[in-house]
Amino acid sequence: MAQKKNRKPAPAHVCDVLVVGRGNAALCAANAAADRGATVTVLEAAPEDEAGGNSRFAGGVMRFAYDGGRDLAKLCDLPEKEIQETAWDSNTVNEFYDDLYRVTSYRSDPELSEILITRSLDAMVWLRSQGVSFTPNYRHQSAVVDGKRRFFGRMPFWVVGGGAGLVDYLAKTALRKGVEIFYEIRAVSLITDDDGRVVGVEARGRDGRRRFEASAVVLACGGFEANPEMRTRYLGPGWELAKVRGSRFNVGDGLKMALDIGAAPYGNWSGRHATSWERYAPEFGDLSMLESSYRHSFPLSLMINANGKRFVDEGIEFYNYTYAKYGAEVLNQPGQFAYQVFDAKTKPLLRPEYGDKTVTKVVADTLEELAHKMEGVDARAFLETVREFNAAVQTHVPFDHSIKDGRCTKGLALNKSNWANPLDTPPFEAYATTCGITFTFGGVRIVPETGQVLDVNFHPIEGLYAAGEMVGGIFYFNYPAGTGLVSGTVFGRIAGTAAGETAVAERS
Ligand SMILES: Cc1cc2nc3c(=O)[nH]c(=O)nc-3n(C[C@H](O)[C@H](O)[C@H](O)COP(=O)(O)OP(=O)(O)OC[C@H]3O[C@@H](n4cnc5c(N)ncnc54)[C@H](O)[C@@H]3O)c2cc1C
Repeated sequence: MAQKKNRKPAPAHVCDVLVVGRGNAALCAANAAADRGATVTVLEAAPEDEAGGNSRFAGGVMRFAYDGGRDLAKLCDLPEKEIQETAWDSNTVNEFYDDLYRVTSYRSDPELSEILITRSLDAMVWLRSQGVSFTPNYRHQSAVVDGKRRFFGRMPFWVVGGGAGLVDYLAKTALRKGVEIFYEIRAVSLITDDDGRVVGVEARGRDGRRRFEASAVVLACGGFEANPEMRTRYLGPGWELAKVRGSRFNVGDGLKMALDIGAAPYGNWSGRHATSWERYAPEFGDLSMLESSYRHSFPLSLMINANGKRFVDEGIEFYNYTYAKYGAEVLNQPGQFAYQVFDAKTKPLLRPEYGDKTVTKVVADTLEELAHKMEGVDARAFLETVREFNAAVQTHVPFDHSIKDGRCTKGLALNKSNWANPLDTPPFEAYATTCGITFTFGGVRIVPETGQVLDVNFHPIEGLYAAGEMVGGIFYFNYPAGTGLVSGTVFGRIAGTAAGETAVAERS
């Protein structure tokens, strides 16, 4: 105890740009600031082997605007034959706008979304220049149809090595540029001078408190998804019961620090990205389990709650436009669980992780047997649900999982819009799911062109920038898959560039 009291505080560390966090947005900011000639320091709350935030847990699928194979060839060396012979789908600027606006109920901030969308391809090309490798995503939402490789879902590319690969490439590049990274040190408050300008942060590590001084601070330290108290406060009662899909280190520190000095909160503070998730998954994401807990094949299923009832239109859209909001629907069911039920016809189309050892599922040769194995479910009501559903499927419409096939049910109180198949072919399988939260939507208000944080009077706070999950105003209610990483790259790069330029100008 006495030893602790007498310990001298470490001397202040001084740099041009201080970046808080070591996920995708932070590393994009760090690399961009270093490219402007700034000396850059990164503070990461996690130990090195757990660093990388949610970005490290990400599948690594990225949504960006592109128009055919030529644009995609900017991201990796595709053979000409592959460019020509693949149906790459498209995600034009207008299609990206349509998707983002539709799923966010037209609430996404127009300036932020314009920058996000129109700079997304350029941001991907920039990532490549920072050492990141991309490859076509044949594993998901891709199929050979009539002899031709087709993509559907508008995300044909992903990062080699997934999110872990992304942060590894970016961190290596940053170190090569001379960026200094401190691990196991948590930023706890912003330091301001007499004029209210941000001049550094106070941080706490294993060796006590330490002061980091900088001309500019970029906060890129995530939302409050791993903080059950804040989840309950902002998202509502019951959210403390959600599993966390990713990092345990994002507990809302950056948001609290910024709000404490008068930053303007912005966006959907009661909104979040949350998905169907393995019911008995660990409390936080586990990197050794890769995608084992994902349950994204639900559009082919019947989702059944404890009352034996369906509660969403499982097939209203491709999964990438509904998965981020259906987790909340599962959380709202009695006992916070649901089963995804399939039969032998759809089994071959399930994502590979449904075959993993850690998956909780029951299998049976009859629906009656399955009903009794689905623990906690009203068996009689479930059988009635299936009977009504099977009778309502429009079987004359051909089934095709690579398009919105219009094979629906008719006459049910809650219809299924696409990919409806009667459950009639054994063996039947039911997968136990709960809600897994990915990240929160509430953030701070920034100047879109610079990433500078605005105060509650909408005046820029000198010296303070934000990026990634901390930026409010982009996502409301829902989210189109693959946009989180792109948002982190676009706004991380913007914030890092502006912070780096300002700091270097001040120094010279
Ligand atoms: C399982 C999963 C799969 C996903 N798949 C995809 C996908 O395929 N495509 C996609 O686009 N998005 C995906 N996402 C979403 C995506 O990961 C996030 O949107 C994105 O990574 C957020 O990046 P970020 O840099 O803002 O935050 P993070 O990557 O979470 O980084 C925040 C960093 O800040 C650190 N930190 C927190 N507090 C402090 C503090 N006080 N001091 C210092 N450091 C601190 C954290 O340790 C962390 O390193 C997925 C997320 C999860 C969880």
